[in-house]
Amino acid sequence: MRDENCIFCKIANGEIPSRTLYEDDRFRVILDLGPATKGHALILPKNHYADLFALPEDEAAEAAKLAKKMGAKLVEKLHADGLNVVQNNGETAGQTVKHFHIHLIPRYENDGQHILWNPGKMSDEELDSVAETVNS
Ligand code: AMP
Ligand code: ZN
Repeated sequence: MRDENCIFCKIANGEIPSRTLYEDDRFRVILDLGPATKGHALILPKNHYADLFALPEDEAAEAAKLAKKMGAKLVEKLHADGLNVVQNNGETAGQTVKHFHIHLIPRYENDGQHILWNPGKMSDEELDSVAETVNS
């Protein structure tokens, strides 16, 4: 399950060298080349899945476990103050590489990053309507 034109397929499967922090038969965890902070890492499945919607449930479960394990390790080893786990799907959501990946971004006090969103406002009626739409 590889895409010959996909750079993350090549990295995950070792065809392109990377700074690997973890590897098993299904995943590779690498340092991001354009890190938001020190230790910014990416969890890559070795199989090609374009995004979360294409990811099989068992791989999603393994990826979540790996996020917990590697996130904790990064925070501990790099003495970070916190961690953002970010996963983008679709260009509108900021996805630039169409091979599923999870960002692990260690956070440090005053690191100058702004990974959170601007809180919005919605009326009770609108919130009710959204919930109704999703639940219908
Ligand atoms: P996204 O915008 O969620 O698709 O994230 C893509 C991430 O991949 C960005 O943070 C890039 O810095 C990172 N990236 C792109 N190419 C490489 C590469 N060859 N090695 C490591 N990280 C990469
Ligand atoms: Zn791929």
